[in-house]
Amino acid sequence: MTRPEPAVSVVVPMFNEESVLPLLAQRLRAVLDGLDEPYEVLAVDDGSTDGTAAGLAGLRARWPQLRVLRLRRNSGHQAALVAGVLRARGRYVVSIDADLQDPPEAIAEMLRRARAEGLDVVYGVRADRSSDTRFKRWTAAGYYRLMRRLVGKQVPAQAGDFRLLSRAAVEALRELPERSPVLRLVVPWLGFPSGEVSYEREERAAGRTKYPLSRMAGLAVESVTSFSAVPLRVATWLGLAGVAVCGVLVVVAVVAWLAGSTVTGWPSLYVAILFLGAVQLLCLGLLGEYVARVYTAVQGRPAYFVASDTGADGDAGADRR
Ligand code: UDP
Ligand code: MG
Repeated sequence: MTRPEPAVSVVVPMFNEESVLPLLAQRLRAVLDGLDEPYEVLAVDDGSTDGTAAGLAGLRARWPQLRVLRLRRNSGHQAALVAGVLRARGRYVVSIDADLQDPPEAIAEMLRRARAEGLDVVYGVRADRSSDTRFKRWTAAGYYRLMRRLVGKQVPAQAGDFRLLSRAAVEALRELPERSPVLRLVVPWLGFPSGEVSYEREERAAGRTKYPLSRMAGLAVESVTSFSAVPLRVATWLGLAGVAVCGVLVVVAVVAWLAGSTVTGWPSLYVAILFLGAVQLLCLGLLGEYVARVYTAVQGRPAYFVASDTGADGDAGADRR
């Protein structure tokens, strides 16, 4: 009863996106119907609490290629993406945000390049972010600079989660033991031949951002700790620097003592103590981030639970990773 594998699956994670649904469906469908190939759209409903589920059910009645993966609880953008990508059946799998900031029209171009050049990964790269706030652009630039340093130059700057993966790349992702890898770093790290398609990032079509500052900070910390142990060594370097400074101060003190000058300087003493205390706390905190990662990994809890998968081959039922 398995249907033929679609040529392309489009994975759309969504959390409370009822207001963009009609427009999203209209634009996505226009592009995908135009391909003239079998496709599936895999909407991942990340535990939405608004009318998203009802909206998707309504769309499904008129759009047979729409498949709805419902997560039992809100698990976050990354986990929702992974859930969708690993369950997509297409020969190529494209992930795209629901809010139409990434133009669905670029999917055709991604597919064309992947086929023409035999690429396994095609990144959507934001050529123009003028629609984003200055703060978002500034933090994003810092994030990508740091990630290129930590993970390597193969991480394309300004490539978010709008990208195409071949079946081979999806299977490689599946092999990873991580529950919910940060895809935008892990995908380049896999080392498949890749290309880029640039596009203009548009304004969110409707609704509000689901990425408040706290989530952005969380993604940044996870990105760093999942790819680099360098921060753990910060303590060592600071310690060595402290020893060097100490040595100089001892020499200075001895010379002053020989010269017969009395030692004053309580303020410098407590500033030094406070500084060292702060550095120690900072290093402890860094260590804590890594311990937390180990803790989460050892617990081995799934990053998400799939409540239902409607429209794949009937209802594939509950499942988890
Ligand atoms: N999203 C999700 N689960 C969440 C938060 C966001 O599936 O917990 C989806 C959201 O619906 C959208 C995508 O992730 O399709 C990107 O989120 P958003 O557009 O709010 O982020 P921004 O573009 O502001 O960074
Ligand atoms: Mg957005």
